[in-house]
Amino acid sequence: MKNSSVKIRDYRTQFIQELTPIYDAGEAESFFYLIAEEKHQLKRIDLALHPDLVFSETETVVWNSILAQLKQEIPIQYLLGKTSFYGLDFEVNENVLIPRPETEELVAWIIRNNLKIEKFKDLKILDIGTGSGCIAVSLAKHIPNAQVFAIDVSEKALATAHNNAHNNAVNITFIKQNILETEDLLQEFDVIVSNPPYVRNLEKEEIKKNVLDYEPHLALFVEDNDALIFYKKIAKLAQKNLLPNGKLYFEINQYLGKEMVDLLEKMNFKNIELRKDIYGNDRMIKGEISN
Ligand code: GLN
Repeated sequence: MKNSSVKIRDYRTQFIQELTPIYDAGEAESFFYLIAEEKHQLKRIDLALHPDLVFSETETVVWNSILAQLKQEIPIQYLLGKTSFYGLDFEVNENVLIPRPETEELVAWIIRNNLKIEKFKDLKILDIGTGSGCIAVSLAKHIPNAQVFAIDVSEKALATAHNNAHNNAVNITFIKQNILETEDLLQEFDVIVSNPPYVRNLEKEEIKKNVLDYEPHLALFVEDNDALIFYKKIAKLAQKNLLPNGKLYFEINQYLGKEMVDLLEKMNFKNIELRKDIYGNDRMIKGEISN
């Protein structure tokens, strides 16, 4: 028998059932509505109001393909090609890490700390390892008159970050550069921020399949025996290239909070503050240059 149209309500039930071995039912249901809205401009309310709506045969084929990809644990953000971060829309793809809620907390902290300075001068900000550009774009959007620069080693990541700056109507100077091979940033900044790779191989077991199999390892992993390689390098550059009273912010590995405090203390940073994320994990740190 030739397959004809399928009632969307029935398809939704099947969709959720097929995903529940991997995701919980609430999550599977939210995926269903996200896809319905993105791909069909179909809202939850439309389905409630029109219980007899159907998918055509072609639509069912598309949905089945998305379902199959979700069952392989491909992140929904990559399937939709977008996500939201700090209230803004961001294009994402396999070349960039999917922005995390913890990173939103880092951005919120930076904005809170630096808004008041805005009255006196334009703030020069540098984001190192920008990826999708989520940190740089959010800061450019929320700190008036900020002059934002962003570095990444990956050309493909920079292309995505560039689109995200453009789509969010902010002006950012992007630079392709390998920070580990950089001896001087050649400019001075009020704020330097970075969310560099920090996951050690010994922590791989804690990383979920959807992250491990699909997100860029370049943005995630570091060698176990030199887990702070990016932090050491960036802190050193910050010593040289931060303006007086300039601030350095990092997102950090939750197991290395103490080591990070030690590192910044040893390098003479002042007013060091270690902060936890909403999950109660050490997740971000700030240090300042005194003169
Ligand atoms: N927090 C990310 C994760 O849990 C890692 C981000 C990073 O390495 N900078 O996968």
